[in-house]
Amino acid sequence: MEVSIKEICDNVSLAREMAVLGNYENAEVYYQGSLQLISRHIAMIAEPIRKNKWQEMQNIINLEYADIKKYKVLLETLRIEISGDVPIGARKRDDTFLLANDVSSITDPDVWPPPTPADHGILSSRHNGPKTKSTNSRRSEIRKAPSGARATSSNTSRKTDITKPTRTSKREDRPSTSKSERNVEAMKDRQDSESTDKNEKAEEQEEKKFECNGMERELADILERDIVQKNPNIRWDDIADLHEAKRLLEEAVVLPMWMPEFFTGIRRPWKGVLMVGPPGTGKTMLAKAVATECGTTFFNVSSSTLSSKYRGESEKMVRLLFEMARFYAPSTIFIDEIDSLCSRRGSESEHEASRRVKSELLIQMDGITANNEEPGKIVMVLAATNFPWDIDEALKRRLEKRIYIPLPTLEGREGLLKINLREVKLDPNVDLKSIARKLDGYSGADITNVCRDASMMSMRRKILGLKPDQIRQLPKEELDLPVTTQDFEEAILKNNKSVSKEDLDKFEKWMNEFGSS
Ligand code: ADP
Repeated sequence: MEVSIKEICDNVSLAREMAVLGNYENAEVYYQGSLQLISRHIAMIAEPIRKNKWQEMQNIINLEYADIKKYKVLLETLRIEISGDVPIGARKRDDTFLLANDVSSITDPDVWPPPTPADHGILSSRHNGPKTKSTNSRRSEIRKAPSGARATSSNTSRKTDITKPTRTSKREDRPSTSKSERNVEAMKDRQDSESTDKNEKAEEQEEKKFECNGMERELADILERDIVQKNPNIRWDDIADLHEAKRLLEEAVVLPMWMPEFFTGIRRPWKGVLMVGPPGTGKTMLAKAVATECGTTFFNVSSSTLSSKYRGESEKMVRLLFEMARFYAPSTIFIDEIDSLCSRRGSESEHEASRRVKSELLIQMDGITANNEEPGKIVMVLAATNFPWDIDEALKRRLEKRIYIPLPTLEGREGLLKINLREVKLDPNVDLKSIARKLDGYSGADITNVCRDASMMSMRRKILGLKPDQIRQLPKEELDLPVTTQDFEEAILKNNKSVSKEDLDKFEKWMNEFGSS
């Protein structure tokens, strides 16, 4: 059967496209197909010069095919290496970061896997044991890697230093090869070097791993998975307005880390900072920015989850949380909705379990002072509440700095519009200042909602009355139209402000009485 040249060209193009995209499985199939077609075509050619040209072409495709096979094998080896050797703790923390940043709105953070029957066994046996245990003896359970391990690690690094030049010289001795072969060799070299350093890295990771036993291990795992965020990735610039709050937080958290020797004695860092203000004004964002900007380990705790998950274990979790924070110091512990964890003592809603959690939190916060004397080991509690009047007196005393996070000013609202519309096309006639004026009394979260709605208006108009199939066929550019002033007006009509004048008065009154700035 005769082979069409177009068929050969199509197959080769597809093979190369797949290879460029890194889809080596499919690339392999297309290369095989192309080579078969070329062989069949060559068999039909009688004229020697043409035959020769096609054979040259066949050689080129053959070389490319061989490269793809090599890459595939290398990738497979790398995949096995990665899945087999990254320390579990490190992987978990990455997962946590992903969860918290990308899918927190989809995944219900309140749903935790139940403990395994085996762990329940440990739990009950531990419960039957002595009920109280001093923080000190508990702390002794947190083992850092023994000095022997460190010695091994440094030995390994010395060994690595010696082997590195040998690997380089080996590469220099090699005869020159094609570019693709050199790339493959470079990959192999990297792989060699990675596997040589692998043990060293694993040991380092192990050294940093917070250790404890039994049920506590499981609670610590839960904290690491759901509460520790390695890099919340919010910067000061992502937050509009709130200059005063940023300055205060910098002074309270960042400076003591930079100049620990200055912040001692009477100048010791604050034990805790309470951020007070209406919902959606950026309190959580500020806490995340503190952690990002000063590179602290960030413990993001919502007190409703802390008190609801593992009933009866909350108290233990609070203790573990602080132990972990000390272990991974410098750390920021952010407790959102602290009012729900620490409502006023003796109030009707307070039952025995929450009283115990509260007491534990107070004990742990007192422990922070001693800990913060150690340079570089600072633990800072940042709490947030929309209901400051519900907070326990004793806790209020420990949250020494109490700052107000207000609704955005005119300048802040304009800044919020700019931040929210960074990735959206704007009609040149849109006047952000005049829109910001219309948004007086709106919180940051309200403004985000208005922007989201406004940016979807044109798309909504386009798809109105269309069937799903027709919607799918609409070209992207027809949907991605610039946002107009009218879109904003409609969005503002649809989204009301969420904070009332009475609420604002209440905050003002409380801050006049208890605030500090
Ligand atoms: P809070 O903790 O005060 O309830 P958040 O920090 O969770 O509020 O903010 C909720 C959302 O509102 C954020 O995800 C962000 O989109 C928006 N937002 C609120 N305040 C600001 C601000 N000052 N700058 C930028 N975005 C903000």
